[in-house]
Amino acid sequence: AETDALLAVRGLEAWYGESHVLHGVDIDIKPGEVVTLLGRNGAGKTTTLRAIMGLVGKRAGSIRYNGAELISARSDIIARKGIGYCPEERGIFASLDVTENLMLPPVVMPGGLSLDEIYTLFPNLKERARSQGTKLSGGEQQMLAIARILRTGAKLLLLDEPSEGLAPVIVQQIGRMIREIKQRGFTVLLVEQNFRFAQTVADRHYVMEHGRVVDMVKNEELLTSLDRLHEYLGV
Ligand code: ATP
Repeated sequence: AETDALLAVRGLEAWYGESHVLHGVDIDIKPGEVVTLLGRNGAGKTTTLRAIMGLVGKRAGSIRYNGAELISARSDIIARKGIGYCPEERGIFASLDVTENLMLPPVVMPGGLSLDEIYTLFPNLKERARSQGTKLSGGEQQMLAIARILRTGAKLLLLDEPSEGLAPVIVQQIGRMIREIKQRGFTVLLVEQNFRFAQTVADRHYVMEHGRVVDMVKNEELLTSLDRLHEYLGV
């Protein structure tokens, strides 16, 4: 039911200038869930994350987070409510080392993880504490980008294709990281093109096509639903 959702998106529409990209997106996420947005290129997955975050030209519909309506809120206010966004390009500061990158984000809410907690949770990052952003592998940059959001106190993480461009063994590490985050009680909405990866991390999947959510599958039903999903995903 809508009342136990941490995030309830209803009839979300979004525009880039004159270009109408989202045509009524409905999404519900319960606290502690990991949910993916699947769909072909251009289906509107990235735009959905950006619209939730207030980063599109114009929005309409409803985005309720923790009971508060955010459809008219600015992106800095949305961040202060506890939603963190990791764009596909990750945004690591290249000239700063890992610790410095982790010290930079403002704490927007109580409950942000301390540096010690981050390093306990993700020993890979600790090993690289003194390495500059430019020296990090793609996987380390992705971990750092996620860890940085956990520093802020955000409780809902919006992740855009965390597996993108990474070798399979690194994708597995990112998967472990997301499962750790879930165990700690965080909630995650992630865009994925990597079907197999999505299956290892998520509780449920929304399927997008032409700026709408057209289907929803529970993770345990994903493999038996492949015939149904084939037309949307081309899998
Ligand atoms: P991809 O994996 O390719 O990013 P996606 O499902 O995330 O796919 P979006 O990036 O949300 O799709 O793009 C949805 C539609 O919006 C596409 O038709 C795209 O061309 C258009 N679009 C994306 N960004 C902009 C922009 N800044 N200005 C205008 N149109 C855009």
